[in-house]
Amino acid sequence: MAPALDAGASKPARFATPSQDSGPRPAVKPEISSGFLLASVPYGFMHLACLAVFWTGVSADALLVCFASYAVRMFGVTAAYHRYFSHRSYKTSRVFQFLLALLATSSAQLGPLWWASTHRHHHATSDTQADPHSPRHYGFLWAHMGWFLHPGNRHDSHTAIRDYAKYPELVWIDRWCLITPALLGLATYGLGVALQSAGRPTSGAQMLVWGFVIATVLLYHGTYTINSLSHVFGSQRFYTGDDSRNNPLLAMITLGEGWHNNHHRYQSSCRQGIYWWEIDITYLVLQLLARLGLVWELRPVPQSVYAEADHNYAEAQQAQAAGQRRPRGH
Ligand SMILES: [Zn+2]
Ligand SMILES: [Zn+2]
Repeated sequence: MAPALDAGASKPARFATPSQDSGPRPAVKPEISSGFLLASVPYGFMHLACLAVFWTGVSADALLVCFASYAVRMFGVTAAYHRYFSHRSYKTSRVFQFLLALLATSSAQLGPLWWASTHRHHHATSDTQADPHSPRHYGFLWAHMGWFLHPGNRHDSHTAIRDYAKYPELVWIDRWCLITPALLGLATYGLGVALQSAGRPTSGAQMLVWGFVIATVLLYHGTYTINSLSHVFGSQRFYTGDDSRNNPLLAMITLGEGWHNNHHRYQSSCRQGIYWWEIDITYLVLQLLARLGLVWELRPVPQSVYAEADHNYAEAQQAQAAGQRRPRGH
C-alpha cells in the first residue's frame, strides 16, 4: 500500500499525496490547443465510427458480445486500473498483475501507469484547482472528457507511480497500450466472420462495430461518469471535503464505482459499496478471484469508518426530526 494513499481511517484523505509523488502538479487550465485537437482525432473517430451501425445493422449475437465486451473491460478498468494500480487495495502475483494490465489496456484508456498516476493526483487534489477533472472548477464537460485530451495531462508521470514503474513489463504495456485494443478489434471481426460462416445472422463488420467500437465508446463514457456525474449527483455519507457522491445508478453501470463518496472517504479498501445493499460487482468478482487464489489480502473497510457512517446517519436523522435542513452534502 502506498503509505499516503493508505491515509488511515482517522481522517479523510482529501489531501493525501502519494509518497512517491513529487507533489500535486500545477493545474492544467482548460484550453483548446492544437495538441488538444490532435488528441481528439482518434477519440472523435471512435464516436463517428459508431454510425457504421446504420450499415451493419444489429443482431442478438452482436448485442451479447457488446455487453460482454463492456462488462469484462469495465472490470479491467475498475479492478485493475483503479483498485489495484491506483490504490493497491489488494495483492496479486506479478504474472496476474500483468494480465490485469493487459485486460485494462483493452479499454483504450491509455496505460496503467498513466491512468493510476493521474488518478492518484485526483485524490491528492480532489476538487481543488489542481484536480485535473473537477466539475466544480472546470465545468462538467471538461471533467467528463476534456481533461485527458489536454497535452498537459497526458505526459509521462512515472514519478507518481514508482511502485509499479519498476516493473519493465508494465512500462512496456504502458507505452504500447494500443496493442490490446487493436487485437480486440481484430478478434471481434474474426468472431463475426466465424459466427456468420456457422450460420448465425451476423458478420465481421457488425461484430466489429458492436463488440469493439460501440462497446468501447460506452465504456469510455461509463468510466468518465465517475469523474463528472459522481462529483455532482448523489448523496454524501461522509464529510470528505470534496464533491464526491454515492450514486446507485452509476454504481450499476460502473460495476461498483458509483459509491464514490465511500471511496473518497477510504480509498485503500477494495470494497466501495460498503454495505450488502450497495451492489459492488467488482468487489464480488474480486472475492471470487480471491477464492481461486489469484488475488489476496483484499483490504476491508475499517470499523471506524462504519462507526463514522453510523454517526453521520444518526446526526442526519436528528436534524430531519428537528425540521432542520441537512447540512450541504448530507
Ligand atoms: Zn473522485
Ligand atoms: Zn480512486
